[in-house]
Amino acid sequence: MVHKATEKEEKKMKFFKGWAKEMNMAQKFPYVVVNGKYLKRVKYGKHKLDYYGSKLPERCHDCGARVGMYHAIGCDWERIPDTSEQMLGHPKLKGFATKKGGKVYG
Ligand SMILES: [Zn+2]
Repeated sequence: MVHKATEKEEKKMKFFKGWAKEMNMAQKFPYVVVNGKYLKRVKYGKHKLDYYGSKLPERCHDCGARVGMYHAIGCDWERIPDTSEQMLGHPKLKGFATKKGGKVYG
């Protein structure tokens, strides 16, 4: 299932201008490169920390990703896939990639 953010949604939710573009760009990068390893990113709603108590909020509180979408690049809620550490500002984070072994975008 493809998740696409729309400008209509951007307006309705009162997100910043350019939100939809930023979200759709983030969906093109399923991999993150950490410590030299390509890891599959964790979509919003797939990490135990996404749940407050037992309830999963409809959207990421930081970037506004819907359940099943990748977080925006730079979201403070996205986690390193294998360690669950915060991704934003992680010292071993190299960047994002469209495929395993592909070019790394910082
Ligand atoms: Zn997020």
